[in-house]
Amino acid sequence: MGTSLGRSLALFLLVTALAIMSINAWSLWNDWRLKLSEREEEARNLSVSLAKQAEDAFLQVDITLTDAVRQLVQNGPGYASTSAFKTQIHEQQGKLPQLHGLFIYDSQGNWVATSGSYVPSNASNADRDYFIWHRTHNDTDIHISRVIRSRSTGDLVIPVSVRLNDAAGNFAGVALATVKVDYFRQFYSYYSLGERDMLALILADSSVLYIRPLPDSFINRSLSSSPLFKSVLKVSDSGSATWRSALDGVERIFGYARLERYPLIVTAGYDRDAARAEWIAENLVDLALNIVLLLIITGMGFFMLRQVRVNLKNQLELTLVRDELTSINHTLQSLALVDGLTGLANRRQFDALLEKNLERSAKSDQPLSLIMMDIDYFKRYNDTYGHVTGDQCLRHVGVALKSVIHRSDDIVARYGGEEFAIILPNTSPADALKVAQRAVQAVSDAGLAHKATAVPGGIVTISAGCGTITARGDASETERLKEQADNALYHAKRNGRNRAVSGHSQPERQQM
Ligand code: GH3
Ligand code: MG
Ligand code: MG
Repeated sequence: MGTSLGRSLALFLLVTALAIMSINAWSLWNDWRLKLSEREEEARNLSVSLAKQAEDAFLQVDITLTDAVRQLVQNGPGYASTSAFKTQIHEQQGKLPQLHGLFIYDSQGNWVATSGSYVPSNASNADRDYFIWHRTHNDTDIHISRVIRSRSTGDLVIPVSVRLNDAAGNFAGVALATVKVDYFRQFYSYYSLGERDMLALILADSSVLYIRPLPDSFINRSLSSSPLFKSVLKVSDSGSATWRSALDGVERIFGYARLERYPLIVTAGYDRDAARAEWIAENLVDLALNIVLLLIITGMGFFMLRQVRVNLKNQLELTLVRDELTSINHTLQSLALVDGLTGLANRRQFDALLEKNLERSAKSDQPLSLIMMDIDYFKRYNDTYGHVTGDQCLRHVGVALKSVIHRSDDIVARYGGEEFAIILPNTSPADALKVAQRAVQAVSDAGLAHKATAVPGGIVTISAGCGTITARGDASETERLKEQADNALYHAKRNGRNRAVSGHSQPERQQM
């Protein structure tokens, strides 16, 4: 019982602790998921707006380049080397901050016109990738190539080029616009981002055009092994996904978008570790408070558990002490010589005194008499009036019997239940019978109502039997004396009750 209470309390404690922990874990997890989805959305939005910006930047360059080509077509190839054309492209270049320069090359790659002032001597651009591309491809669409270092200024630039044809449709050279990588460097630096957050402008063939925050040595690196090209872009032209960067091994939450008009892709990637650190920092106080709460609850639980155990132990000890006291009480009661209810000698004392008087009788050669008495129809009395009144009746009978004896050696005892006894030392059978008769009379005189009795008169009566013995010191004398008195009592009961009978020599003789 005690351990089951302790066990329930421990179980309650465990369930509470587990509940707190799981609610916390669940809310933390939820928060993390939310943070991730927020980051994904931010990355997606940023990549889309950067794509729009790149699209605009290239569109302006595209328009300028197309316009120059249109003029060359209108005015003939010779127009390219006129100062009017040069002035015009120089002005155009000044209008667009992203435009590094405009160039016209002939079919050999020689410089025909430039928006800048510097022309390298004997320079030929026939070796450039874009030049080779246009020489070998008939279409006159815009072509964007990998980053090169400008031969005129030494800057990193993105070539945007168009094939020039002569009247017969043969390759007549290339019109080139170069876009400054620094333009994107500057633009991307406007965003306040984390140290390892990434922004990148990538060519559709997977070459890096510009990437933040990596050094310029990463420019023109191929990203073909990146999940972006291996899987992500194959599914959708824009969106978000998390992957480990192929360039620096950092795991990022990426947003990506493919430009509509140009073969370019923009990505924006947030450092996943930084997001995690942010998430931890945001939840640290909550977490600490919850741990403290958990500790307090657990501590209080253990305290209560201990208290319950101590209480149970105390209770157990109290029970033991009570049981001990009860048993001591019983012992004391049995050791006592007086009957608690009537104040007469109890059975213990009776036995001892009977022995003693038998010894005396043996010594003095004087008769010893014993009267045994029993209340008539006492069971019916109890049944009628109840046990409490029954006990009161026993007390009254005790008082009545006490009044019967006059000699100091005579002893009235409660023999047991509703049975009483009187020991009469030095008393003859005839005298004993007289005392017994007085006893019967005394009880009847007390006039205690007993409406259930079968004895006429409706009052409490007793029956009495006497025995007498002159002891010889023989061990069986106690039993014989009791038997005599008992037999006489039996006869008194048999012969109508409310009477005394002597068991000595004339057991059948009826008195009264
Ligand atoms: P009889 O005249 O044959 O003696 O009839 P009885 O009913 O007195 O006989 P029996 O011995 O069958 O019943 C004795 C009853 O006395 C049984 C019990 O209810 C009652 N009794 C014994 N001791 C006590 C006691 O200490 N207090 C009370 N109230 N009743 C007791
Ligand atoms: Mg009886
Ligand atoms: Mg009786």
